[in-house]
Amino acid sequence: MTQIAPYEVYALQYATRPTMASDKFYRHELYKEPDERFDTAYYFWLIRNPDRTIMVDCGYSAKAAASRSREIETDPVELMARLGVTPDDVDHVVLSHMHFDHIGNVGLFPNATFSMARAEYEFWTGPYGDRTCIGWAVRPDEVQAVVELEQTGRLDLVDSTTTELFPGISLTVVPGHTPGQIVTHVTTGNQEIILASDALHFYEEMRLDRPFQIFLDLVAMYESFDFLRELDARPSTTIVAGHDPEVMSMFAHAAEGCVDLTRQVRAQTEEQ
Ligand SMILES: [Zn+2]
Repeated sequence: MTQIAPYEVYALQYATRPTMASDKFYRHELYKEPDERFDTAYYFWLIRNPDRTIMVDCGYSAKAAASRSREIETDPVELMARLGVTPDDVDHVVLSHMHFDHIGNVGLFPNATFSMARAEYEFWTGPYGDRTCIGWAVRPDEVQAVVELEQTGRLDLVDSTTTELFPGISLTVVPGHTPGQIVTHVTTGNQEIILASDALHFYEEMRLDRPFQIFLDLVAMYESFDFLRELDARPSTTIVAGHDPEVMSMFAHAAEGCVDLTRQVRAQTEEQ
């Protein structure tokens, strides 16, 4: 077997938004709990070894931030620089799904190829992707930028449920939040790090079986929680939630705004 150099895996936080629990969980009133402050963090992820530099998602664009009155706390390029990476160094970008806060900066990476689930691509370029209650979460110009990647041969469309992307890195298509949401698995040393992206916004979804408020298939979202709980029960396996502020304190500091996902320093908070 060919030896793979161990991967480093990082979460990079570029924004935070003050939100309430009732903004986040579908039908929050059913839990009969008082509403509370429940902030949303925005990340993208970096996987690298001496042979490869891979991003998972790339954050929202300055244009999207302005049009939605969102802030960008740290420019993604500045965050990457703190880990010694420039956009030119990036070989590949996994686009976990088409929502604006995950695909806003695809134009930053001139040397990269990209991956997205075929189901995701076909949905957002199909007849329902721009309906009001669905299409609000994407930007047509950014969907078009992904279409241009496909037309210029830079986008690999992933078909099967689980696909090996590179040795030690595989992608699983986990529908629910969107039709082709991707979860990225990274094997490094004896650990498996699971970058859940929006298959799991917050750890509470998995722990308390609480769907996030944005989904296209509610049953599939419950199935995705079952899938993630099975992974979480495996030894040496770490699930990384896609929007949970807790990630920044669960893992070792690597640089300002960046944590090292191979070094967990504490468990998830268990309070309800
Ligand atoms: Zn999303």
